[in-house]
Amino acid sequence: MALEDLFRNVTKRFNDDTTAEHEPMFKCPRCQQSVPESQFQEQGKVCPNCNYHARLTAAERLRITADKNSFTEYDAGMHSADPLHFPDYAQKIERSQTQTGMRDAVITGECTIKGSRTVLIIMDSHFMMASMGSVVGEKITRAFETATEKGLPVVAFTASGGARMQEGILSLMQMAKTSGAVARHSEAGLLYLTVMTDPTTGGVTASFASLGDIILAEPKVLIGFAGRRVIEGTIRQRLPDNFQLAEFVQEKGFVDMIVERRTMRSTLSHLLKLHGYERENG
Ligand SMILES: [Zn+2]
Repeated sequence: MALEDLFRNVTKRFNDDTTAEHEPMFKCPRCQQSVPESQFQEQGKVCPNCNYHARLTAAERLRITADKNSFTEYDAGMHSADPLHFPDYAQKIERSQTQTGMRDAVITGECTIKGSRTVLIIMDSHFMMASMGSVVGEKITRAFETATEKGLPVVAFTASGGARMQEGILSLMQMAKTSGAVARHSEAGLLYLTVMTDPTTGGVTASFASLGDIILAEPKVLIGFAGRRVIEGTIRQRLPDNFQLAEFVQEKGFVDMIVERRTMRSTLSHLLKLHGYERENG
């Protein structure tokens, strides 16, 4: 190879590398590969190499689920009190509000999905790990009550670290309250679809998340009640590696379908239409 060619090649490679460095990259926590951030975003925050589904904010989830401009939010202004004067709780709430732009860990409202009107519930793990306190429980309960009154189905994207310990017994009461509202919605003969996203655990799994008529989950998300270490410590046995992954939970019959993010919207639309929710007005 002539010296000029070598020089040109090296220069080209150097320039290519520089370009790559300038483009923001996403490093996948599962397969450790780097992909251009733009490509990762375009695919709805799914890794093109290993199909890792990264967690979405409620706003991102809303954008890829509801028909454009169809969403009307319920109870947007509701925010937590600090009933137990729990140390640092007020500051934690404030910090999460600033970071996420949300009042608490869930948004609820009404929208259409490919033309079918539905009540929509979206939890956001970026807000205090979407723990369920009075506000989360109350908003979810009201969403089910409104759906029951209006004869609408409910689609709920669940995510949670469990009960919000800073609200003590008040947070545990939300399990019974939300479950009661789901039961009344069900008795009215209305459809409830759950989509479990990463992670769905604790009191949320043990209440409304597991009460869907049909329970969907994104691939390989964590679904469980107590964590692995607590269970292993209690039963003194090693648990399987895939324990509490969506696929394992499906095998045991708790999840009906694993649905990839790119087909989630059309799957939900299909299920709604299949159950007779064809029109704008339910
Ligand atoms: Zn990956």
